[in-house]
Amino acid sequence: MSDKIAYIGIGSNLGDRLGYIQQSVTMLSSFDGIDVLETSGFYETEPYGFKEQNWFVNAIIKIKTTLLPIDLLHACQSVEEKLGRVRGKKWGPRTIDLDILFYDDLVVNSDILTIPHPGMKDRAYCIVPMLELDENFIHPVLKKTMLQIHSELESVDEVFLYGTRPVN
Ligand code: AMP
Repeated sequence: MSDKIAYIGIGSNLGDRLGYIQQSVTMLSSFDGIDVLETSGFYETEPYGFKEQNWFVNAIIKIKTTLLPIDLLHACQSVEEKLGRVRGKKWGPRTIDLDILFYDDLVVNSDILTIPHPGMKDRAYCIVPMLELDENFIHPVLKKTMLQIHSELESVDEVFLYGTRPVN
């Protein structure tokens, strides 16, 4: 299969959050058929949904891949398992969470895979790092660039480049 460009969203809010994210990038890049091209900055973000938990660290990687979407999902899930993610409360604490945000301009709606990732368009922690990686990338369902989606964000969840979050 020819090379595709995909974007993977990474989040952690338990333990050594930066360390988990860095390890997950190293582990993903060790798969045959996955080349990590670029990593966004790391952002500290207010938890989405269930607020009584640690802030997340989030980043997005841009990859070149020969894997089919389902095989890419399995690669992500095996990294999650290896890094000890315990599946618990929806939107609850997690050592590592890997989501396929985009896979070229492909649209997938199956029981196990939805691409583009459905929540990302409303979440500043997905859109802000995407601005860094490709602000002109067009969301294949909304047909809008990341810049346009960012300008229309209603989310009040706060996003700070790691280390710049004001201390109360
Ligand atoms: P979560 O607990 O948020 O990591 O969700 C995990 C479930 O989301 C898995 O069972 C996947 O099959 C499903 N899923 C659907 N679409 C995606 C996607 N684009 N990226 C990652 N997981 C997905």
